Amino acid sequence: MKTVVLATNNAHKVSEIATALDFPGWEFRTLRELGIESDPAEDADTFEGNARIKARAAHEASGGLAALADDSGLEVDALDGAPGVHSARYAGEPCDDAANNAKLLAALADVPDASRAARFVSTLVFVDEDGTETIARGTIEGRMGHEERGSEGFGYDPLFLPDVFGGDRTLAEVSQDEKNAVSHRGNALRQLRAMLEGAGD
Ligand code: IMP
Repeated sequence: MKTVVLATNNAHKVSEIATALDFPGWEFRTLRELGIESDPAEDADTFEGNARIKARAAHEASGGLAALADDSGLEVDALDGAPGVHSARYAGEPCDDAANNAKLLAALADVPDASRAARFVSTLVFVDEDGTETIARGTIEGRMGHEERGSEGFGYDPLFLPDVFGGDRTLAEVSQDEKNAVSHRGNALRQLRAMLEGAGD
């Protein structure tokens, strides 16, 4: 059995990861399940940098287990890529989705539809037992709406209109399965799966 430590305690991400990477003989455990303390400062200025900090810290704190971390966020073109790596705490501490969405709507108040392009980005860093890194990045393109719609999902989902659904439904108005099939994290996980399968050849 190969144990992979997940540098997250978010139950939703854990099940999405375990489903996407259901390799025979692999089991996923969160830091909390393994009783490991690891809470490094995520102070890099890229998603990849922050995912690497979390994955390396989990790999080391677990005494060398394989480790997987993801870092994700929203990039809005009209805001020069903000909130970006600051997505979780865009409106300050503590992390508050409603406050983040209100701040984003205010920042975009004068921005017309044609200039409201945005994307979610997810970067995954997998560190194997021997320290080898595999990095995957997934995105989903869309644009920012003018008000919150829908009650599925989390974070900026109620404001984000993915192009793939024709631009008229937010990510909070689709089921979790529909979201996973097209989302930044789903795309990053599919890419990581293909890379890890290739590495085993
Ligand atoms: P983290 O990678 O879990 O730290 O997520 C960073 C932040 O990006 C979250 O707190 C959300 O604000 C935003 N975010 C990341 N992925 C999503 C998503 O799938 N939907 C909505 N917001 C997201």
